Amino acid sequence: MPGYEIFGEEEKIEIMDVLNTGVLFRYEFLEQRKGVFKVREFEQNFAKYCGAGHAQAVTSGTTALKIALTALGIGPGDEVITQGFTFVATWEAILEVGALPVFTEVDATLNMDPSDLQKKITPKTKCIIPVHMLGAQARIAEIVAIAAQHNIPVLEDTAQATGARIGGKHLGTFGKCGTFSFDAVKTLTTGEGGMVITDDEQLWRSMSEYHDHGHDHQINPGGRGGEGRRFIGSNYRMMELQGAIGLAQLAKLDSMIVAQQKNKTVLKEAAAAIPGVTFRQLVDPQGDSATHLAFILQDREQCQRVNASLRKDGLGAVNFSENTWHYYPQWEHLLGAKSLTRSGYPFNEPGGKKRIVYDPKALPQAAALLERTLVYPVSIKMTGEKLQEMSRALHRAAQV
Ligand SMILES: *Cc1c(COP(=O)(O)O)cnc(C)c1O
Repeated sequence: MPGYEIFGEEEKIEIMDVLNTGVLFRYEFLEQRKGVFKVREFEQNFAKYCGAGHAQAVTSGTTALKIALTALGIGPGDEVITQGFTFVATWEAILEVGALPVFTEVDATLNMDPSDLQKKITPKTKCIIPVHMLGAQARIAEIVAIAAQHNIPVLEDTAQATGARIGGKHLGTFGKCGTFSFDAVKTLTTGEGGMVITDDEQLWRSMSEYHDHGHDHQINPGGRGGEGRRFIGSNYRMMELQGAIGLAQLAKLDSMIVAQQKNKTVLKEAAAAIPGVTFRQLVDPQGDSATHLAFILQDREQCQRVNASLRKDGLGAVNFSENTWHYYPQWEHLLGAKSLTRSGYPFNEPGGKKRIVYDPKALPQAAALLERTLVYPVSIKMTGEKLQEMSRALHRAAQV
């Protein structure tokens, strides 16, 4: 899972380049910065790595979603479809721009079920956000094809799958744009940070301007203060220290994924000993960024038995149906329409009338799947000893 495991000299060297100039801001300070543009370089390298035309660095994966939605023109009156198994940030961003999230079932990929997506498209659907959860691919080709029939843009939430691919093509490049998170537990980390990639130059330009108070970034004699603007914006700028860390982390990304794949393979072989176990379906096993191993038991009862055995060995696995941050029925603040505003917006109209009511039982297929799925996070530096210990625990759990 985590780039934080492998901070080293490379990150320090990049950071020192920044501290040596004292310029923390990504724009301006042309003389003082002596040619050091870490955020810009990080964007360029990230776009190249992913095979995308453009990249826009921002403050977080959540703001990456918000900025992409804004640049796509999404707002009040619109519906955005995402999946019922994701991190809360995905739908927070949808609500933040004033649109309403609509949730689909997940299928054996543990990502968006294309057939349920088809059923949930309405004339109000203005964007579709499949999430590549836990490092593995959604059925993105099918989802993009369905969206294209309705002329709806696809925004890939690739926060958890930086570096993952299908047939060598990077996730985040299948849709109109793709967003990434570099928060403290993500594969590539800058502490906090995010990125949006796209091949659409106009879309990128809108994001670049919006994320910086509308600044058009056209070189002009008046300097930054003399720049023009086309629309209102806000501030979601990444700072140079984050860009510096990102550059060092990006250079290590492929080796991180190789290590995770190796460790995941060991765990998967051990988990295969559990009677009747199946694994989460991978669209392309070779392109899996392998941040997690998800194994699916025959029923809830077996799932609980197996996990009780693993827990006895101090190695309990995660059951996402019990997780309050990643699974629809557990989002009591969404289902209960809790917000800080006096009117109850975004769940209510400014006058207090309800805009939407969420039914906790709306996703029975996701429930049936997740209640019998166990997940182990896979890390880069799992020692041979640790892997053996986990394998032994899985073999013991196979006996219960
Ligand atoms: C982490 C995450 C985000 C948000 O990223 P932050 O950088 O933490 O704001 C969005 N979507 C998913 C699926 C995530 O896991």
